[in-house]
Amino acid sequence: MSLEQVECIVAGAGVIGLAIARALALAGREVLILEAADRIGSETSSRNSEVVHAGIYYPAGSLMARLCVDGRNLLYAYCRERGLPHSQCGKLIVATSEAELEQLPLIAAKAASNGVTDLKQMSAVEARSLEPALAATGALLSPSTGIVDSHAYMLSLLGDAENAGAVLVCNSPVERGRATERGIVVDVGGVEPTRLGCRLFVNAAGLAAPELARRIDGMPATLVPKEYFAKGDYFSLVGKAPFSRLIYPVPVKGGLGIHLTLDLAGQARFGPDIEWVDTLRYDVDSAKAALFYAGVRRYFPGLTDGALLPAYSGIRPKIVPPEVANQDFVVQGPAVHGVPGLINLFGIESPGLTASMALAQLVAKG
Ligand SMILES: Cc1cc2nc3c(=O)[nH]c(=O)nc-3n(C[C@H](O)[C@H](O)[C@H](O)COP(=O)(O)OP(=O)(O)OC[C@H]3O[C@@H](n4cnc5c(N)ncnc54)[C@H](O)[C@@H]3O)c2cc1C
Repeated sequence: MSLEQVECIVAGAGVIGLAIARALALAGREVLILEAADRIGSETSSRNSEVVHAGIYYPAGSLMARLCVDGRNLLYAYCRERGLPHSQCGKLIVATSEAELEQLPLIAAKAASNGVTDLKQMSAVEARSLEPALAATGALLSPSTGIVDSHAYMLSLLGDAENAGAVLVCNSPVERGRATERGIVVDVGGVEPTRLGCRLFVNAAGLAAPELARRIDGMPATLVPKEYFAKGDYFSLVGKAPFSRLIYPVPVKGGLGIHLTLDLAGQARFGPDIEWVDTLRYDVDSAKAALFYAGVRRYFPGLTDGALLPAYSGIRPKIVPPEVANQDFVVQGPAVHGVPGLINLFGIESPGLTASMALAQLVAKG
């Protein structure tokens, strides 16, 4: 029996796999999307803050910095063109002490080196005139930050991909692969296990991407990063949010601090915090509420007792250990690992949603 051949296989139908599948299909390539779960976007892509990041904090010259700015512009344009729910509501980065106030110009300088030149420094009075519930010693306004309905976005990406001929198959985990002269051969599990060959195999399996790469014979194991899982819990605010912009404290080591984000219905949630875990689990520990109240009251002193409810959690696909402050996106192709027809995506944490279209362009370009 001859091996069934497909031109391109994308493993993983999160926002990254879907954006890549769309870009490949629109470029005229034959695309099969294999998703382990029973639906698209059920892992990290539905467990995040849905923020369209401006591109402020990332190290200059990093892939994150470049793809966040490019991706943000592409995402806003796409949302406008398709009428997808989104809002360029802006965000305030707030200082709550004199020491934090000194950080604001440094953050603005870092942003400028990434091409984010629209930040506006504000006094405490100016910040409060925008957001009366805020306590701050000063703030930076980021007008190009916003929010997006990530599910509507993913459905639209899938629709575009399918209209251009791509096919999605759920309940179909890629279990292992093998590099050959003509590309990659993969074994697909699920109810009807099958073996497929492809010229291009894109490993967009998110948290499972390093594990999947290790199961591809021919992929040098030394080039697969060790995975670390950094869980983040969210608490939601009971009642109407007293803010109309996103509120971020000055960043803390390893994360952006317990910030306030809004969904498109105006509901506020706080988080995510950082907890390093060994296994994937999505429970929210209600005992963390005390830490959240303390963190949030630094900039929102009006937060009343009992107003926070455990909401949901997500897990950052880290490829560096806790003591390393920064990681970058890794888009690893044959030039790095020497395996023809294989592209691995590792460490696609925030701002992956924002950067998704720019990342997809990079992968589709080859
Ligand atoms: C707490 C948190 C907050 C965040 N907030 C933001 C934000 O506000 N803005 C922003 O821009 N980014 C944010 N991000 C980052 C963003 O959510 C991610 O970068 C993005 O969702 C990653 O998408 P993905 O497709 O790589 O992964 P996923 O969404 O996890 O998709 C991977 C898919 O692969 C499937 N899969 C796994 N193994 C296999 C296999 N062997 N075969 C087939 N399929 C497989 C999984 O089932 C899953 O559907 C946040 C992330 C976290 C954790």
